[in-house]
Amino acid sequence: MSLNAIRPWRTIMRRKSRQIMVGKVPVGGDAPIAVQTMTNTLTTDVAATIAQVQAAADAGADIVRISVPDEESSRALREIVRESPVPIVADIHFHYRRGIEAAEAGAACLRINPGNIGDARRVREVIAAARDHGCSMRIGVNGGSLERHLLEKYGEPCPEAMVESALEHIRILEDNDFHEFKISVKASDVFMTAAAYQQLADATEAPLHLGITEAGGMVSGTIKSAIGLGNLLWMGIGDTIRVSLSADPVEEIKVGFEILKSLGLRHRGVNIISCPSCARQGFDVIETVQILEKRLEHIKTPMSLSIIGCVVNGPGEALMTDVGFTGGGAGSGMVYLAGKQSHKMSNAEMIDHIVEQVEKRAGELEAAAKAAE
Ligand code: SF4
Repeated sequence: MSLNAIRPWRTIMRRKSRQIMVGKVPVGGDAPIAVQTMTNTLTTDVAATIAQVQAAADAGADIVRISVPDEESSRALREIVRESPVPIVADIHFHYRRGIEAAEAGAACLRINPGNIGDARRVREVIAAARDHGCSMRIGVNGGSLERHLLEKYGEPCPEAMVESALEHIRILEDNDFHEFKISVKASDVFMTAAAYQQLADATEAPLHLGITEAGGMVSGTIKSAIGLGNLLWMGIGDTIRVSLSADPVEEIKVGFEILKSLGLRHRGVNIISCPSCARQGFDVIETVQILEKRLEHIKTPMSLSIIGCVVNGPGEALMTDVGFTGGGAGSGMVYLAGKQSHKMSNAEMIDHIVEQVEKRAGELEAAAKAAE
């Protein structure tokens, strides 16, 4: 039985959106919320870009976006797509030739705003190329680069102007009978972003790509994204997310998954529950968690691990986790397996032992999942 069935306050009712495909990855409908990032290498540096795509995919990225600013990048894109384990979105913005080249090079999706391409003939050519090559599109409205007529009408960037911009781009695609698109309405301001997405969610059935643009560095960007995206996801809005950080793309993927994990929308890897530690701790909780986070990065099976400094909260948390360790006295603590007290372990050997127990439990869970299939 799902946890949500017995604890209804955990239930998130997702907005019903149309499903599209980004390569082999479904986006929208009842598909899992896809996690994306973007490379920051030079696209023309094919080896470096492929390495970054691969690292993001290893961290769990479902989709990766790559900038295609010139013809040389279009040529590089062909090679990158061939090697990539995940679908690639080509970031075009407005140059229609790049759009056609990217579709021909095998991009799974074009990030392009049809209203910025130019005349109707160019729009038709890009749409035809997308259709011929099974390519979807992402309309990306940004609060910082709204069309002049909308800024004049509304006086300043605001949610209404962003939604109107999105609807204008949508109309162009729909007039050309093209429906394989998703939309984003990003701003660097959390309030404006959340209001724009709420209004857009009511105005279209298309899947929505969530993001807070230029969110900032690792700590501030993570918090902004968790508040902005977290609120929208909690309301059931959002079919794919990208956390924008001035940091390595792998960090963006990790933060994206943590946001989804916190809301019970997706699960991946070991969810570590740990206490902040205090004078009662029986071992160094902070250092232990830092080491375990690194040593357990390879585990993809969803499972939980509690690392608690003392018996104040340790046994209670361990009841609800797959593996648990609670600090005790005299240089040792108690290991819990599947919620039950199991055996004592010395602090000196505890990290290796926990890694072993987690790997063992992951193996059991994977075998059980295979047997159930
Ligand atoms: S669980 Fe124990 S060690 Fe951890 S913060 Fe609470 S009292 Fe301190």
